[in-house]
Amino acid sequence: MNIHDSEKIAGMLKNLGYEETEDKSNADIIVFNTCCIRESAELKIMAKIGDIKALKKANKNLIVVVCGCMTQQKGMPENLKKKFPFINIIIGTHNLEELQNYIEKYNKTHKSFNEIWEAEKQIVENNAVYRTSNYNAWVNIMYGCNNFCTYCIVPYVRGRERSRKVEDIKKEVEELVKSNKYKTITLLGQNVNSYGNDFKDGKTNFVYLLNELCKIEGDFRLKFMTSHPKDFSLELIDFIASNPKMSKSIHLPVQSGSNSILKIMNRRYTVEHYKNLIDQIKLKIPNASITTDIIVGFPGETDEDFEGTCDLLKYCNYSGVFGFVYSKRKGTPAEKFENQIPINIKRQRITKLFEIQHKIVKELSDRLVGQTIEVLVEAKINNFYIAKTDGGKTIKIKEENNKEINLGNYYIVKINKALTNELIGEII
Ligand code: SAH
Ligand code: SF4
Repeated sequence: MNIHDSEKIAGMLKNLGYEETEDKSNADIIVFNTCCIRESAELKIMAKIGDIKALKKANKNLIVVVCGCMTQQKGMPENLKKKFPFINIIIGTHNLEELQNYIEKYNKTHKSFNEIWEAEKQIVENNAVYRTSNYNAWVNIMYGCNNFCTYCIVPYVRGRERSRKVEDIKKEVEELVKSNKYKTITLLGQNVNSYGNDFKDGKTNFVYLLNELCKIEGDFRLKFMTSHPKDFSLELIDFIASNPKMSKSIHLPVQSGSNSILKIMNRRYTVEHYKNLIDQIKLKIPNASITTDIIVGFPGETDEDFEGTCDLLKYCNYSGVFGFVYSKRKGTPAEKFENQIPINIKRQRITKLFEIQHKIVKELSDRLVGQTIEVLVEAKINNFYIAKTDGGKTIKIKEENNKEINLGNYYIVKINKALTNELIGEII
């Protein structure tokens, strides 16, 4: 979501005539697109803003902008301004698309300002997007979140769910496919499974949208993130299974393998419900690659609760796990929960989680040896082509004189060897 927001920011800067530079000492403007999902993200960005103090001293004309989720928190713009008085413009998440106007205003007046909107605005269409993610194009289908998981700050900084109209999304995807530059379209939302609920028309839902998008002609795959297990329907599983345009990689964050922790996280599903979804996915989509998000060290998490999470990892055989140490977020209910877990226990648990997952990934890779799979060839480094499977695994393919390979095309590859982080294959 943030990467795509940055693409919109870059699009607005391009509109104003700015060009990208690799060298920050050469920049006329620096925009920090911040994230506050965990404390570590905030600390990182604070350090990065601090780093440019010297640049600002050397170049009085340098414009410094801070935007993104972090600035939308109460009191944060004032804190930032106190800590870093050299910041010129601070804006929030609800007025991101206004950035172009704000920069123009600053260029006229040379007066620094903060502009944070409290309420969600109408969705802005036809944004200039400067895309940076190779053969993948990100497309927002909705903004905000209504779920209020007790650890999470997103609903407070991104507002309530608002869906884009089917026609607007379809038009954007059609243009992307027609451009012939993109092979994967990834639909974005905090909980894509509740897409369209806000229209209350009894017709528009996520599967309806996917069906409309799959009608678009062309050689592309549709992905989406993120799903919520309480809303992930059997109808959706059937749709993915039956439609060749649907990617078979599914990201289904579970967060914990303990029912009592899921309850206090306010996730509103049980481990049994989740396992049933995984069973259905594996049954209907045998080649699915499933990934998840896990939080360890949530307040009150016992050794037994954590063991439940480890068992779930083994049950699901995930092809990837994004594991996080619980981080207290100001203003969320969990901030005030008793039994916060000491950092050393959190660290032990995350290390164990990654050890288990590492073994699973190695086994899954070993199983691929000898198999043939479809890959997208994305780059060439020296005499190796770098390709990706639908599930995001990297495959290295040695160049052969008698085979012509075009970047951005799909090929069938035989896997010859599995290393820790990559597979070695040949085009057949
Ligand atoms: N809307 C998505 C993604 C939310 S943020 C979803 O519901 O899955 C991405 C991930 O960050 C979450 O899935 C969660 O695992 C993690 N996360 C969110 N808040 C966190 C916190 N306070 N501490 C640690 N991890 C957190
Ligand atoms: Fe956060 Fe939960 Fe919403 Fe995801 S669904 S953004 S974890 S509140």
